[in-house]
Amino acid sequence: MGVFEGWKVTSPYGYRTDPINGSRSFHTGIDLVKYHRYPIPAFVGGVVLFAGEGVAGTGFGGYGNVVALRDDKGYVHCYCHLDSVAVQKGQKLSKGDIVGYQGTTGRSTGSHLHYEVRAEDAPSYGYGSHVDPSEYLEKYFEGEDEMLKEQVRELESQVAALKGECQTLLNTAEAHVNEINTLKALLADKSMPEWFSTEFGEEALNGVVDTPQGPNLFWRLAAVAFRLRKKG
Ligand SMILES: [Zn+2]
Repeated sequence: MGVFEGWKVTSPYGYRTDPINGSRSFHTGIDLVKYHRYPIPAFVGGVVLFAGEGVAGTGFGGYGNVVALRDDKGYVHCYCHLDSVAVQKGQKLSKGDIVGYQGTTGRSTGSHLHYEVRAEDAPSYGYGSHVDPSEYLEKYFEGEDEMLKEQVRELESQVAALKGECQTLLNTAEAHVNEINTLKALLADKSMPEWFSTEFGEEALNGVVDTPQGPNLFWRLAAVAFRLRKKG
């Protein structure tokens, strides 16, 4: 029973012989033991509906000091016979937050936690609408696992989309770099190309420019100038 791992279960949910009057009765929660005044963590998060001594007629008569939490599905989780409570009505708790300390207040034969889960929150905090706490918690966390799996799937698809966008950006950047390199090559100074020396001779620029070097454009313009001079 994974949900109550580490706890000693002294009385399960269901029919049993009542430890106080010996009659056969229905046990509406599960009795769990660690040690007296053990700080009890909430099995499920929720909002505190009730924190204090359960008085007869409130839905918690005989339960001693009680903390009742309503979870996100509307179920009420009752932590009973507490030595003392550690929270206040209206507080929002997460799973694992301390609700109170194991005790033996109310109708109890020894220090233990009576943990009860109710399907309703009214009237009397859903008194009588109890469900099997083990089954409820197992189902509750199964649902939570499914939600987490769904979140993981969603994040994975977001990551895949981002990867795609990054690849597109990288491709664009690479194309720009190639363009820049082409332009740089066009602008780079170079010495006399073969076609120029073939047409006008190696010495053509002697006395015309100091350093016969330049980009493609320079050689093309120089060629135009020489051809015009020949014509003229
Ligand atoms: Zn009990």
